[in-house]
Amino acid sequence: MIRIGCHLSPSKGLLRMGQDALSIRANTFQFFLRNPRGSKAKALDLEDAAALMKLLREKDMLPMVAHAPYTLNPCAADGRVQEFAAMVMKDDLERMNAFSGNLYNFHPGSHVGQGISAGIEKTAALLNTLLTPDMPATVLIETMSGQGSEIGGAFEEIRKIIDRVELREKVGVCLDTCHVFAAGYDIVHDLDGVLESFDRQIGLSRLKALHVNDSLFPLGSRKDRHAPIGKGCIGLDAFLALVDHPSLKNLPMILETPQDDLAGYAREIALLRGEAVDNL
Ligand code: FE
Ligand code: FE
Ligand code: ZN
Repeated sequence: MIRIGCHLSPSKGLLRMGQDALSIRANTFQFFLRNPRGSKAKALDLEDAAALMKLLREKDMLPMVAHAPYTLNPCAADGRVQEFAAMVMKDDLERMNAFSGNLYNFHPGSHVGQGISAGIEKTAALLNTLLTPDMPATVLIETMSGQGSEIGGAFEEIRKIIDRVELREKVGVCLDTCHVFAAGYDIVHDLDGVLESFDRQIGLSRLKALHVNDSLFPLGSRKDRHAPIGKGCIGLDAFLALVDHPSLKNLPMILETPQDDLAGYAREIALLRGEAVDNL
């Protein structure tokens, strides 16, 4: 069975979030360790975290993914903005001690006029200050759409970040289907070719998770707008091939599609497992 789930909110507690995942037959999921806008974060409830981890182990729902606040810019030109990203990510990675063995995903950032190379250097330098040999999380760089001045829209850029990281064994990649498609990788007509390119540039062994999102805009649009599965420019057939691809088997697949409620995600999960679904 494929490992699939969706992005969930911990607003009603961590254990409750795991129970929500279970209720929609998810066997992985993703969440923010703090308010996604990245400001003040409550202290982590360690008992609740332990209860969640117990449930996830019992129900075979690991690994799961924690997502860094998407407002951070790890390669900002403004030193204070970059320092803020460093501070939040450091705190998040300490929180990951309560979720040992799991994945922490972040956006490599926008260079805002400094140029891609400068952005790559800064994001790699930040990782070098954050990663420690004994940390229990694997940090994932997310593939981006290349919207605006985002870095990480080309596999080569991700490889250059990883090349500059010292503790490379702590770093992996999360492939977002909407983002790579918007960046120009044709996963609809040439999934094998895209994965070969990923393997050549980064190495498939670095691929640790997928974000499974349809795209509102066409191939190469460089616009990051997610659509429900089957309702965008990627289309259901491409997703059914993707979740079945031998190179992607066993990776956690996370839906970040626009859905109003858990029932919407339950339908998408069933759909991608190849089960009959009504009311699509
Ligand atoms: Fe993301
Ligand atoms: Fe994503
Ligand atoms: Zn996105």
